[in-house]
Amino acid sequence: MLFHALFISPHLDDAVLSAGGEVARLTHDGKSACIVTVFTRAAAPVTRDAHGFIEESNEENAELLFSKRRLEDRKAAGVLGAHHVHMGFIDALFRTLPNKSEPLYPAYKQIFSGNISLNDRLLCEQIRVGLQKIKNRQTDKRVRIYAPLGVGGHVDHIITHLCVREIFPKQSIWWEDVPYRTHPIQLFKRLSEASCYNATNKLIKNTLQYSKQKLNAVRCYKSQIAKLEYSGLSDIDYYAEAYYTHVK
Ligand SMILES: [Zn+2]
Repeated sequence: MLFHALFISPHLDDAVLSAGGEVARLTHDGKSACIVTVFTRAAAPVTRDAHGFIEESNEENAELLFSKRRLEDRKAAGVLGAHHVHMGFIDALFRTLPNKSEPLYPAYKQIFSGNISLNDRLLCEQIRVGLQKIKNRQTDKRVRIYAPLGVGGHVDHIITHLCVREIFPKQSIWWEDVPYRTHPIQLFKRLSEASCYNATNKLIKNTLQYSKQKLNAVRCYKSQIAKLEYSGLSDIDYYAEAYYTHVK
């Protein structure tokens, strides 16, 4: 199927949290949208943080949790009238070295460092190949590509940003990552790192009209909602979204 817009989401919730109002606006206007999520699987946890994540989500194991999360995402996309694709890559919290017993990122500190492990090189290549296939299926080259700016420095968000940037150069519209965008220092840091500060136009989208639909979509992520609220999800995230586009 051909789409007017693709929303390339690192995790199962990011596109809806950061750009759900825009998804709803497009589908309301009769445009077709697809949420493509990159990291949609987990492996057996080997770190304390990975075990903690499963426990906080009130689930028995990683496999059950992620199958539940994929289902939640399917429902959320449906609420916004969008299609969905799950690319099936493993979340950073669960990635290991080839021996499978040592973590690639030992704790959240490394995950939110913005520094991509050299051992993720092959993964990045596989993601680029996957995105290229999706691109090749889009015969209409005017397709709009929405993707994360990478605020907050989560390695999966940075990887998604860099891969999208490579496969869709100059074509992407970057969203401010919710809930990290409300930290001004993190936002400015990321804008300068991504060379977006002077090279882009900032667009604030008033998505008030779609805020109820967005709220209903976000509520589909039942296993994550408490953690998201704790991390700073706020009312403004429902009625105003901010994007950056390259200056032509
Ligand atoms: Zn995320």
